[in-house]
Amino acid sequence: MGGRDATMVLLDENGVRCDGRKIDETRRIMIRAGGLKNADGSAYIEFGDNKILVGVFGPRDVHPKHMSNTDTGILRVRYHMEPFSVGERKNPAPSRREIEISKVIKEALEPAVMLEKFPRTAVDVFIEVLQADGGTRCAALTAASVALADAGIPMRDMVAAVASGKVADTIILDVNNEEDQAGQADMPIGYMPSLNKITLLQLDGVLTPDEYKKCVDVGVKGCKIVYELQKKALKDKYFGNGGD
Ligand code: UDP
Repeated sequence: MGGRDATMVLLDENGVRCDGRKIDETRRIMIRAGGLKNADGSAYIEFGDNKILVGVFGPRDVHPKHMSNTDTGILRVRYHMEPFSVGERKNPAPSRREIEISKVIKEALEPAVMLEKFPRTAVDVFIEVLQADGGTRCAALTAASVALADAGIPMRDMVAAVASGKVADTIILDVNNEEDQAGQADMPIGYMPSLNKITLLQLDGVLTPDEYKKCVDVGVKGCKIVYELQKKALKDKYFGNGGD
């Protein structure tokens, strides 16, 4: 954030963004449920130029045992970026950013998963970012919800996610990497449409109270678009021609 590339035109006089989108338009989104034979559930997502694979394992025994909970199941999430997923090679060692994003995604998924139905066990969610282009936490959270549903994990709802933000003093939907770097604000949102509940809300940047409200509204609207695609991915696998 903070105008690192001041020369870039993020929004032209016709309201067209640096990648040709309108202010309220998402990037191209493709979600596929299934695909990994050895996982209990899986999903693959392309969200613009983000490409992310998620594998879900469990409910299964917890090791080490002392981490298990007799009253409820536990959710464990690992968000991992491949060294080749970004322009400048990423060190393969887990970064502070990956640890933070793993925690944020875990906390965003917990209200959706009926952990109380499988005490003493764990559900593991492995997220592999193959290609990153801004908004990976939202794309990963979206795909993780589909992978959990694909694994047959009892859920209250799926969490759909997308970031809204601010560039050139305008609120936009689905912030890409350039907009994240050179724009004024980035607000990742995770939302359960059937329950009308936000489970992830972060903000990098500065907004007025009115802009803040607008960003939440725009983000929630975007999540509803994403949610339809999550449901379609599951329908395609279980009732259509898709899936494995
Ligand atoms: N990024 C990068 N190298 C890194 C980490 C991130 O190039 O080591 C890029 C990547 O494209 C990512 C973007 O910066 O999607 C924005 O990262 P941020 O931490 O805001 O998380 P995200 O928007 O992906 O959820």
